[in-house]
Amino acid sequence: MTTLTEVFPIIVPVRSSLKSINFYLLKTDESLILIDAGLNNNECWNALNDTLNKNGLEIKDISHIILTHHHIDHVGLVNRIASTNPVPVYAHPLAFPRLRRDEKFIYGRIEFFSKLYKEMGCGESGKKQIEHLRKAAEANESQKIECDLYELSPGRFENFEIIEVPGHAPDQIALYAADEDWLFAGDLLISHISSNALVEPDATGERIRSLSAHNDSLKKVLSTPMDTVFSGHGVLIENPRELIEKRMAGIGRKAEKFLGLVEAGYATAGDIARAYYKDIYEKQFSLVMSEVIGHLDYLEERGRVGKELVNGIWRYVSKQVARL
Ligand SMILES: [Zn+2]
Repeated sequence: MTTLTEVFPIIVPVRSSLKSINFYLLKTDESLILIDAGLNNNECWNALNDTLNKNGLEIKDISHIILTHHHIDHVGLVNRIASTNPVPVYAHPLAFPRLRRDEKFIYGRIEFFSKLYKEMGCGESGKKQIEHLRKAAEANESQKIECDLYELSPGRFENFEIIEVPGHAPDQIALYAADEDWLFAGDLLISHISSNALVEPDATGERIRSLSAHNDSLKKVLSTPMDTVFSGHGVLIENPRELIEKRMAGIGRKAEKFLGLVEAGYATAGDIARAYYKDIYEKQFSLVMSEVIGHLDYLEERGRVGKELVNGIWRYVSKQVARL
């Protein structure tokens, strides 16, 4: 059996609210695994090479790459590494069409959002976002992952356990190193900000209840004995249990705020988003809509709100009175 020897964190500072882009080299006596691959820029490339060199290693020593999820700030250097060292790249199967930028999937996803934003009462702002997605689909063609991908499924992988932790992304996985009580968890848990549970379609084009999935994933890892969570952004998390409980309580609190708006007569997700986020609604449209839709799902699952499709738009009502 292989033993885990060392972890070398690669922390690349960024000016955004994420504070840093983190990825990790894990050295066992038989392998050198790269968990995530940063952004496709020279800062990340140099940070990776500096960390390798400082430890007497090189790009060619990397034995495989594991991706916690498909987002561009986690997969950026994959093509660059694979062009000199064609290592196997492992990811959750749901990441494949996203990483390969499968045309059918990409354009199906745009259709999904077009219908969703209409049904959620987003009006013109929704249409603008669809235009933005169409342009991004063309521009992002260059970020296609070119190398062979291998499926990661729940269970053992070398001396780790792979745990599915969807929510932030449908394909998000965590790697648990039981010998060390370490959890490499992508963007499931971030020390200084709560993770976004982004709305996404599943493989059949149905909407995933992303925030509920995120909440379930937090609950799932809570029962994992762990000392340190190696996060995709910000600092390493030394007291993960406390932070997980704080994040779960935060979801409940925010849902109550949105419930208050439903009770005040804001009936659609678009109305709630405009009332709560004001000018951030336009600036961070897709994030804001994911937040509102996710928390409305959360309330609906708890019997606190109901919804009805009226003229093609979902209208939410409080079920508070009926409950009492
Ligand atoms: Zn992410």
